[in-house]
Amino acid sequence: MATPAYYTTLPPFWEIFRTGTPMLMYHKLGPLPRGVRIKGLYVREKLFDRQMTELHAAGFASVMPDELFSENNNQPRVVLTFDDGFTSVLQYGLEPLARCKFRAIQFLVADRLGKVNDWDAPKGEVMSPLMDAAQVREWLAAGHEIGAHTLTHPRLAQIPPAAAREEVFSSKKKLEDLFGVPITHFCFPYGDCNEVVRDLVAEAGYRTACTTVSGVNTPAEHPLALKRLMARHQSLSLKTLWSQLTGCA
Ligand SMILES: [Zn+2]
Repeated sequence: MATPAYYTTLPPFWEIFRTGTPMLMYHKLGPLPRGVRIKGLYVREKLFDRQMTELHAAGFASVMPDELFSENNNQPRVVLTFDDGFTSVLQYGLEPLARCKFRAIQFLVADRLGKVNDWDAPKGEVMSPLMDAAQVREWLAAGHEIGAHTLTHPRLAQIPPAAAREEVFSSKKKLEDLFGVPITHFCFPYGDCNEVVRDLVAEAGYRTACTTVSGVNTPAEHPLALKRLMARHQSLSLKTLWSQLTGCA
C-alpha cells in the first residue's frame, strides 16, 4: 500500500543543518488533487507555512544557490528551491515566504510555461498547472528568482548529446529573453546527469546546478553538483519517493 507523504516539522533536520548549508527541495504546495500518485511531491499549505516559520524562528536567512560559497557571517543559511514552476507555489507560497522575509528560486521548464507537467503523464500522474509568463513575472516582482530546468524535462544523460545541449542552452536563452533577467542557476530533471551533461551546463554559463543527491552543502561542494534535502521526516516512504524522483533506488 502506498504510504501518504506526511511531512512534518524541521527539528529532526537541525543536526544535519549544522554540518553544511541546506538546500530544501519542494515541488507543489497545497491540497492533494484526487487521484494523485506521487503524493510526496506535495506539501500542504499549512505545513509549508509552519516549515517557513520554523526556519525563520531558528534565525535562518535565505540565500540563492551561488551565495552558498560567499562569506558567512555565521548566520545559518538555507536555499529554498521549487522544481518545475507549479502555479500552486505562487498561490500558497508567496504569503509565508514574504512573512518570513525569505527569497526562493523556481526552476522552470521553459517550453512548458502556462501548460502542465506532461513529462509525468506516462506514469499516469494527475496533471498540474505550471506558471505562465505573467505568473512568473508576479513571482519575480515578489523578489524571488528563477532558474532553468531544461525545455521539456527529459533525462539529460539518456538523450543524444546534441538534444541535451539544446535543452541546456535554449532554456537559458528563452527564459532570459522572456523575462529579462540573467539565468545562472540550473536544475537537472530527475537529478539525471553525467560528465557530458555537467560540461554542457558549465559551457552554457550556469554558475550552479542542483541535483537530487541528498545532503547539505559545504564549501568543498562542486557548484554544478549541489545537494538538496526534502523538508520532511525520514520515513519508509522517503526511499520510495526518492526512487521516483531520481529513477534509481
Ligand atoms: Zn523537475
